[in-house]
This record gives sequence, structure tokens and C-alpha cells, in this order.
Amino acid sequence: MIGEEERRAVDAVLQGHVLTHGSRVREFEAAFARYTGAPHAVATASCTAAMQLAYMHLGIGPGDEVIVPAQTHVGTAHAVELCGAGCLFADSEPLTGNIDLDQVEALVSDRTRALAVVHYLGVPVDMDRVMDIAERHRLFVVEDCALALGATYQRAHVGLRGDVGCFSFYPVKHITTAEGGMLITRHADLAERVASLRAFGIDRHDPERRDTPGEYDVALLGANFRMNEMGAALGVEQMKRLPEFLKRRRENYEVLRDGLAGIEQLEFLDPAAGDYQQSHYCLVVLLRDSICRRRPEIIKQLGDRGVGTSIYYPKPVPHMSYYRGKYGISESDLPVASRISLRSLALPVGPHVNVDDMHYMVNNVAEVLRRLE
Ligand SMILES: *Cc1c(COP(=O)(O)O)cnc(C)c1O
Repeated sequence: MIGEEERRAVDAVLQGHVLTHGSRVREFEAAFARYTGAPHAVATASCTAAMQLAYMHLGIGPGDEVIVPAQTHVGTAHAVELCGAGCLFADSEPLTGNIDLDQVEALVSDRTRALAVVHYLGVPVDMDRVMDIAERHRLFVVEDCALALGATYQRAHVGLRGDVGCFSFYPVKHITTAEGGMLITRHADLAERVASLRAFGIDRHDPERRDTPGEYDVALLGANFRMNEMGAALGVEQMKRLPEFLKRRRENYEVLRDGLAGIEQLEFLDPAAGDYQQSHYCLVVLLRDSICRRRPEIIKQLGDRGVGTSIYYPKPVPHMSYYRGKYGISESDLPVASRISLRSLALPVGPHVNVDDMHYMVNNVAEVLRRLE
């Protein structure tokens, strides 16, 4: 969904003489803060970088632990591990695929510093409960909002109840900057430190604030996790289109969900209605027992008919080789997350497809499943 405006905006950056540390990043941060209602927004190189910066700000490292959901993108856990801290994995709840908060308290120990939650597929986690647990155990709360731009919880944008909310602008997300991320927060001191940590911990970048060109000091051990001006120029234009993108996602999702409802080999993640709005990242169906082993065949046949699918996520993070080797967690320890990974099939509802495509998908999913028997 890159249009003329995006192309022109990137070209304008290339015609100019500022490729990084420029006004586009500030403009994108301001637009993002305005849209989400965030007091502070800091653009980063990726969502994973944003989460890692939050842990760096917190000073977590070897000996510390962070609770993370098992059913997520590996970036949620890698951000913890890259700081030298360890992950404690919680299973999913069956109706949403979100972290099972009933398990979280049992995992907390003296070493637990933070709790990361993921608004899986854009359906908000029960943040009242998250904050209650966090307050009782003095945990820092990271909201991984990579799939949840546009989602609200109790009429406020997700990412603002926890200490930080982190977003991704990787190409498949709600908006893109090619690679990129954003951290939003209520804490001014955190925002200021993260802005410095994303750029080596250098104390000033603004040439006007330097008495001598090239003069600066480094007060913190920071990374190079910045967003560049081309990415930010894309982001500024994509933000203008976000309301339209979200509307199309909702329409597509509803048509697809209604159309697939009658197919008996399928189950759905069915979050209870509540005071929230989800962001319709994609529609995930779960294949029932009778056909779940035939998922590769189903994916292949849908692909042949022009229906692209994906899997969110192919394995729970603790079953990926790196984590399995380190933590040795088995399938039976995470039955719900394992079930979602094994049976789920994600169908697209993004603004690149329309309502006619949804009808086409319903007909073809039905036909492929009917012919399996
Ligand atoms: C995509 C995604 C990430 C990683 O985002 P990057 O911007 O590529 O670092 C992290 N968490 C979740 C839930 C994601 O979907």
C-alpha cells in the first residue's frame, strides 16, 4: 500500500541533504503521538529495538527475568535475551490467544522485573488485570503492540496503560516504514532516556545545541536503533491513510468471519465482547481434529487458487531451537499455545484486499475443505 504520496515524500528526502536526525522523524513521532494520544513517542529501528531500549532503560540484565507470552513473534522474547536477562513463558488463553494471566502470578519470583504482554492479532489483553498484577509485584509492563495499531482498550489506544507500548512498521503490519518501530509512554524521563539510548547515548544531536561542530558527550551505553528520514517520510504519509486502512480491515474481517462461520471443520478464536476495539490484523481460523494434520496440503491448494495464507506463529517461541535448547520446555507445558501453532491458518484482511476477495476466499476455503474428504 505504497502510493504516490509516499513515493513523493521519500523522493523529497532524497532531494534534500538530511537522511537521518531530521525533521521527518520528529514529524512522524508527533503524528503518532497525536493519533494514539500518547504524551511521548520515540521512533526506533524496529519494534524489537523499541522493546530492547525499554529493557535497557530499566537496566535489566543477567540474573533478571521477564515474563513473556509463549505465543508471539520471537522479537518479544529476543528483546529480553539480548539484554542478557531470561524469559519466563506463559501459555495462551484459548478464546483470544493472548497471554493467560492466570499463569502469570505463579511465574513471578524475586528475579522477575517485568511483564511483557502482546495484543495478539490486535485483540487487546485485559490491561486492568495486567496492571493489577504488575502493581502487586512491582513489575514494569511492556505492551507489544506490533499487531495492534488502531486497537483501543477502554477507549484509550493500546500501549498507554503499561509503562511502554511498542509498535512495528515492518511491511506486513498496519502501516509500514519498510523497517521501523515506535515506543510510546506516559513517562517523560523514560522517553528522554530512550531517545538518547537509541543513538549511542549521545547527549545532543541538534547541531544548534553544539557550541563546536562535532562536540558531544556520551553519558549512557546506547545502541544504534534509530529510524532514518526515508522511513519516517513513509510513516508520515501512511499515518494519514491509517483510518481508511483500519476501516477496510474491519469490513473485510466481518465479511470473511460471517462467510466462514458455517464451515464445520473450522473453529475461531472468539474473544468475548467488551469495552475494546480490535485492530483486525488478520483472521485466524483453527482447523479441527479431523483435518489439522492436512494443513500443508490445504495451504498449498489455497495458494494454487491465489489465496495467500500465513501462520501466527509457526511454533510457540519456547519451542524454537534457540529457546528449546536453553529452557527445555515441552509441548505439554504449553498446550494452548501449541494448539494454536499446530492448527491455525491466518487469512488476509488488509487494505490490499477487498470485500469481493473475501467472498472469493470463503468460496475457495469451503471448496478446498469439502474436497479433502
Ligand atoms: C512483527 C512483530 C514483532 C517484531 O517487529 P519488528 O519491527 O520486526 O522488530 C514483535 N512482536 C510482534 C507481536 C510482532 O508481530
